[in-house]
Amino acid sequence: MRIGVDIGGSKVIVGLLGEEGRVVEKRRIVLERRDYGYVRDRVVEEILRLAEGRAIKGVGIASAGQIEAGTQRILFSPNLGWQDVNLKADMEERLRTKVHVENDVNAATYGEWRFALRGEPKTVIGVYVGTGIGGGMILDGRLYRGSSNVGAEIGHMILDPMGPRCNCGRRGCFEALCGGSYIVRKVKKRIEEGYRGRIYEVIEGDLDRLHTGHIEKAFLLGDALCEEVWEEVAFYLGCGLASLVNIFNPDVLLLGGGVIYGSNLLIDLALPSFEAYSLPVSAKNVKVLRATLREDAALMGASFLLEERD
Ligand SMILES: [Zn+2]
Repeated sequence: MRIGVDIGGSKVIVGLLGEEGRVVEKRRIVLERRDYGYVRDRVVEEILRLAEGRAIKGVGIASAGQIEAGTQRILFSPNLGWQDVNLKADMEERLRTKVHVENDVNAATYGEWRFALRGEPKTVIGVYVGTGIGGGMILDGRLYRGSSNVGAEIGHMILDPMGPRCNCGRRGCFEALCGGSYIVRKVKKRIEEGYRGRIYEVIEGDLDRLHTGHIEKAFLLGDALCEEVWEEVAFYLGCGLASLVNIFNPDVLLLGGGVIYGSNLLIDLALPSFEAYSLPVSAKNVKVLRATLREDAALMGASFLLEERD
């Protein structure tokens, strides 16, 4: 058996997996603090509890952020604020087993590819639309990480250099146009400025509740602001996906993340701009699929990337 860990911004999931990839037991750690020492020790505790009395092949850890090639040090983790922490070495010393650290979206894309898609398509581009946008790529049957292990940053593909400011400091990134937190911020601002429409009824006047699912609901009810915003999101999503298809000519575009899971319409609404901006031969070939393994994907991916490299 093996252990998979997914370190998020507010919780950590630790899972025990069988050799066929199934998650047989799972535990959630709610993080009361985010400092490295605390999180590391809580994760070690939970792993030891899960692994007790079992032969464990190793531990795969999925974490947001940039992972250094070779050492697998976490150079920067945006959701926990960690800088240059040596999680792999620290865990190996404490657990006395092999540990692999992988970017979380790489891990999720690999997990979906290997287990949900059974490793069949050769080229898969994973686009995870959550608060921001994460990317993962399987090229010619292998996870692609770039020359210094920090590639596949699909969320920072520039779709409009004059566009809105991104959290990375640049302008018009894919995620600044389609990421959940950016969309919500935009609608919130307009409501705070006095906009009242069906969206205000949908959230019952409680701005703190607002998420992209509400925006889609108000869009369906004919709210003018949400029509404008949601159609723009769909337009740019289609453009972003078209660019990826033009560059990589993938077998599969795999869409996941909270915004996608919370929407029934967005993928269909993105089709017109996707078709308008993609090269016909590539577009004809590609299957657009939703990710199906949800939170297990990163656990499965990270723990089965153990053998992939040393
Ligand atoms: Zn950016």
